[in-house]
Amino acid sequence: AKSEGRSTYRFFEPQMDQRLQARRALELDLRGALEHGEFELHFQPLVNLTSRKIICFEALVRWAHPERGLVPPSEFIPVAEEIGLIVPIGEWILRQACSEAMHWPEDISVAVNLSSIQFQRSNVVRTVSQTLLETGLPANRLELEITETVLLQESDETLTSLHALRALGVRLSMDDFGTGYSSLNYIRRFPFDKIKIDQCFVQDVATNKDSLTIVHTIVALGRSLEMTTTAEGVETQEQLTMLRAAGCAEAQGSLFGMPTPASGVAALLQKPNPV
Ligand code: C2E
Ligand code: CA
Ligand code: CA
Ligand code: CA
Repeated sequence: AKSEGRSTYRFFEPQMDQRLQARRALELDLRGALEHGEFELHFQPLVNLTSRKIICFEALVRWAHPERGLVPPSEFIPVAEEIGLIVPIGEWILRQACSEAMHWPEDISVAVNLSSIQFQRSNVVRTVSQTLLETGLPANRLELEITETVLLQESDETLTSLHALRALGVRLSMDDFGTGYSSLNYIRRFPFDKIKIDQCFVQDVATNKDSLTIVHTIVALGRSLEMTTTAEGVETQEQLTMLRAAGCAEAQGSLFGMPTPASGVAALLQKPNPV
């Protein structure tokens, strides 16, 4: 009778309220997910195009929802950001990624994505330095990936935090480069070590002259600003050939391996060079 009452209730609810309810249900589940241990990190290799070796793994969070199955980050990260939950979740991700990297060879780094909310609503510098101390990971094995949204405020505080992070010895990567509207301004103002060329430029680099020109320009820009360039979302040998010719230093994508659970990292490191 109870379930009947509920479905009748739903039937008469306007659509807007239904969406709101679904959203509230997701929020509620998200609030419990951390303590229920439902998050998991997957790791995707980054390959140096000169040595052809894996040099880093990017940590990408997954949510194993008990009923919905794997929920992609694109669905729950924005919600977690909106309700501030990204701060404790982000702290868990960082600690988990650094602890995991302690099991890897010493010349392999780990890259962790930071959300803009972690800059705005928490002391991200203290979190990073404490996590390095607690896990024992040397700072030079940690890369922090930051998108333009972090920099949108362009506040002095953001700049101070970025300099403080760098002073700890971690590296900073500008993620999704070229997709925002003021990438060039940011790359000039903020202390990045690496530019990650967004996959939208990489996707048709072998078939579209304009994309190829953009990639060449970004690599040249990186070189003159003394930043490394990584190509994201490399899927084919043709793309790789073009990226190599453009002078791109590193690459990541399905051609080298999609994100895998931590248990798959050792196997990837033992495989002969993927390219
Ligand atoms: P991102 O940081 O740009 O991550 C790259 C995304 O591209 C990942 O999607 C990855 O699985 C996907 N990818 C990698 N290689 C290929 C390829 O060859 N082809 C294609 N089509 N896709 C490829 P994912 O894991 O679904 O993550 C999506 C976004 O969610 C990330 O974009 C990042 O912005 C965010 N995200 C993921 N994990 C975290 C996290 O731990 N913290 C935060 N704050 N954000 C995260
Ligand atoms: Ca990233
Ligand atoms: Ca990216
Ligand atoms: Ca992206």
